[in-house]
Amino acid sequence: MMNRMGKPAKPTEPRIKGWCPGAWRPMPTGDGLLVRVRPRLGRLTRGQMLSLCEAAETFGSGLIELTSRANLQLRGVSEATWPGLMDVLVEHGLADADPHAERRPQLLLAPDWQAGDATHEAARLLQARLGEMPELPDKMGIAIDAGDAPVLGEVSADFRIERAASGTLQPRASGGLLVRADGRALGTPVDSVAAAVEHLVRLTHWFVDSGGRESGRMRRHQAPLPAWAPASIPPAEAGARLALGKHPKGAVFGLPFGRAPASVLRAAVDSASLAPEASGAVRVTPWRRLLVEGPGKGAEAASVAGLLDDNRDPRLSMDVCPGAPHCEQASVETLGLALELAERLSGLIEGPVHVSGCAKGCARRQPAEVCLTGRAGRFDLIVGGRADGTPVATGLTESDVIEHLEKNRDASRL
Ligand code: SF4
Repeated sequence: MMNRMGKPAKPTEPRIKGWCPGAWRPMPTGDGLLVRVRPRLGRLTRGQMLSLCEAAETFGSGLIELTSRANLQLRGVSEATWPGLMDVLVEHGLADADPHAERRPQLLLAPDWQAGDATHEAARLLQARLGEMPELPDKMGIAIDAGDAPVLGEVSADFRIERAASGTLQPRASGGLLVRADGRALGTPVDSVAAAVEHLVRLTHWFVDSGGRESGRMRRHQAPLPAWAPASIPPAEAGARLALGKHPKGAVFGLPFGRAPASVLRAAVDSASLAPEASGAVRVTPWRRLLVEGPGKGAEAASVAGLLDDNRDPRLSMDVCPGAPHCEQASVETLGLALELAERLSGLIEGPVHVSGCAKGCARRQPAEVCLTGRAGRFDLIVGGRADGTPVATGLTESDVIEHLEKNRDASRL
C-alpha cells in the first residue's frame, strides 16, 4: 500500500470490523488507529524496542499493549501520523515492506527458545516457506513450541509443532516432535524439524482444500484429518509459563492489564543495559510478560516502576478490555474500575475477574467468576458467566460495584 511518492498510502479499509488488524491494516478505535506489530521470532533487539517506544510517543498516544498472541499494539495513531509510523516500522524491521506479508499466518514461538534449538530452527524454516502456504483466514496462526515441555497449549493457534510424549506414564515425559492440528488431542509424530515443517505446510493446503476457510479456524473445522496425517501421540506434559523476576536469560516483567506507557518499557530495556554483557533485547509472550534479555547470571532482577514483579498481582490475570475512551463501543471506562478491584478486592474473589466495556466481551470468551459489563454508562454484574450473560445486579456505578462486592464478601455466591 504505497503511494506514488513511495510513501505508505492512507489506510484504505480501517472501518471494516471483524478482521485482524496489523501494521498495514490499522483498526479504527475510540482513541484513533490501533497499529499491531508482530515481532519477528517474537523478539525485538534493544534498538527495535527503543525505536518502537519512540514511535509510539511520536505517532500515537505512547501507550503500548501486549496481546494474548504476543503482538505489540500502538494506540492513538491518526490517519495523518500513520504513514510516518509505517516508515519507521519498515526501516527498523518491525513491519515488512510488503503489505501482503502480514496476511500470512502468524508464528508464535515459545519465548525461551535458544538460537539453533528445535523451536528456533522450525521457525526459521517456516518463515522461509510462508509464501508456499495458501491464503488462510485472517486470524490463523502457528505455534512453535518444541521445547521439552510445551507452554503454548492454551494460546490461540491453529497448527502446532510440539514435543511429543514419549510414553503413557503420568506425568508424560518428552520425546520427539509432533505436528498437531488445534482442537485435536493427538498429533502426528515426525522425525525431524524439517519433516515437521514439511508436514505443517502440507496441512495448511489440506485445510483449505477440505473447506476449512468456511470454518475460519482449525479448531472449528470438523473434517477428518487426511490419511497421511495420522494423529497418534499426545504432546508432552505442559510446562509452566514464565514466572516474573529472574530468568536465565534476564528478567521477566509483567504489564498491568497487558499495557504500559512507552516510557516504562524504555526503562525496562535500560534496566538490562546496566548489567555486563546485557543486550536489552526483548522477547514477547502471550501472558502479559516481557522477557528482557541481559541482567546476567546471578544478578537480581531490577524492578521497574510501572511494571509488575509479583506473580500473584491480580493485574497480571484480570481480563479487562480497553473500554472508553479507547473503544467506541464502550459506554464505560474499564481500567479505573479494574484497578480499584485489583487494589481493594485482592484475595476476596476466587477465580477469574472480567471487566468488559460492553457485552461483546473481547477480553475473555469464557465465563468468569465475576464479570462486570458496561451498559448505558453503568455496570451489570454477572456471576459465573460471560459478558453477555444474565446479570444478578444492573445499573451499578463503580462505587456500587465495590460496595456490592464488599458487602457480599462472605456470601458463597454473589
Ligand atoms: S468488549 Fe466492547 S468495549 Fe470492550 S473492546 Fe470489545 S467492543 Fe470494545
